[in-house]
Amino acid sequence: MSTYDVIVVGGGPAGATAAYRLATAGLGVLILEKEKFPRYKPCGGGLSLKIDRILELDIKKIVDTTVNGAYFSYGQKEGTYILSDRPVAHMVMRDNLDFYLISEAVRAGATLLTERGVKGVSHGKSGYEVYTGNQVFNCRYVVGADGVNGIVRKFIRPNAGRTIVASIEAEIPADNQLLEKHSNYVHIDFGIIPYGYAWAFPKKGFLSVGIAGFKGVLKKPKDYFDKFIKGHPALGDINGYKYRGYPIPIFRNPQNMTKGGVILTGDAGNLVDPFFGEGIYYAIRSAQIASSVVCENIRKGSPDLSAYDKFVSEEFYPEFRAAQKVSQFVYACPRIWYDILTERTELAEKYFNVLRGESKYGIFLKELKAMGGSLVKTAIKKSILRLFW
Ligand SMILES: Cc1cc2nc3c(=O)[nH]c(=O)nc-3n(C[C@H](O)[C@H](O)[C@H](O)COP(=O)(O)OP(=O)(O)OC[C@H]3O[C@@H](n4cnc5c(N)ncnc54)[C@H](O)[C@@H]3O)c2cc1C
Repeated sequence: MSTYDVIVVGGGPAGATAAYRLATAGLGVLILEKEKFPRYKPCGGGLSLKIDRILELDIKKIVDTTVNGAYFSYGQKEGTYILSDRPVAHMVMRDNLDFYLISEAVRAGATLLTERGVKGVSHGKSGYEVYTGNQVFNCRYVVGADGVNGIVRKFIRPNAGRTIVASIEAEIPADNQLLEKHSNYVHIDFGIIPYGYAWAFPKKGFLSVGIAGFKGVLKKPKDYFDKFIKGHPALGDINGYKYRGYPIPIFRNPQNMTKGGVILTGDAGNLVDPFFGEGIYYAIRSAQIASSVVCENIRKGSPDLSAYDKFVSEEFYPEFRAAQKVSQFVYACPRIWYDILTERTELAEKYFNVLRGESKYGIFLKELKAMGGSLVKTAIKKSILRLFW
């Protein structure tokens, strides 16, 4: 039986990126994927512009539109457009993005086996054994890229808890006139969902509509989803769309990302921004670093993946901690946040800079704190004015 240098479990953005890089480096790579491509993945498909700084492949062909800002609403009652003079995020359909990335990985030399759900990983005599229903594959390293419900993380940390955000997403067909109107901004509603937000992202032929909120707090998510659709001026009368619920594993605490020659990337490692729920950037970036560390290990002949743990601790965790603090304020006080954001639109521009990769959550948090006194005054002024509206 052949032994691969690396088995990548899962062929989403993290797995495809890792496989592409490892195969490009000349290693023997096998991707084991549970589904068949192209496959649907519930996702807003919003790629913050900072993705342009790290992507090695050209995704222009599969970008449906690039937005310059947002329409922010509060409980769908009040709303304000905040548009920048520069792009903020690309919008993609995940079936297109994932199919493109996995095809490039295969073109680079990786072997892809679809409809092979991995059931377990164990330490073998000369590396690792990866089990599907009725087959065993051998390798020197395993990249866990099997998403939120994956099994590879159980090999590394069998009992670790996670923070899950519950979400519902639907791709709702929309006519050209409507889409043209929406093509330059995303719609984000604070206030309609407790401890979360609702969105409508423009795509070619669709609006990707969804809601997300902390699991445990968000009881009956479908009711909130229906309420958002019914209250949406362009979608209220639409019926018969398919929707899917899906968990989002947002960062909560630093955790081990490696054990021996096994390494976690993307959602499998809970690498999701706890404020916005953005995970595609972190899936791709973590897979790039994970594959570089694996290549370096193979070159040196030493199974030590700690450089990856160090990278995650230094590049991602400080950002996630700052995003966590922003989220604690925003989702606890959505009314105040909405008032501040729409009155002090320079704040939105500062956040857009985070999405562009020109700033960071840590800097944004400091900016928020520095504006503290004047933001409180803004919030009080708006609250008093509302009393007389
Ligand atoms: C409703 C919703 C909206 C979102 N919106 C956005 C957004 O707008 N922007 C953004 O950046 N992020 C968003 N996210 C988060 C984003 O979807 C994820 O962070 C991202 O998909 C992570 O990529 P991944 O490659 O780690 O995992 P995935 O994309 O989940 O890929 C994992 C792959 O592994 C496969 N797999 C799973 N188990 C096994 C197994 N046992 N064996 C073999 N294969 C397996 C799966 O079939 C899948 O193909 C959203 C998430 C949700 C749920």
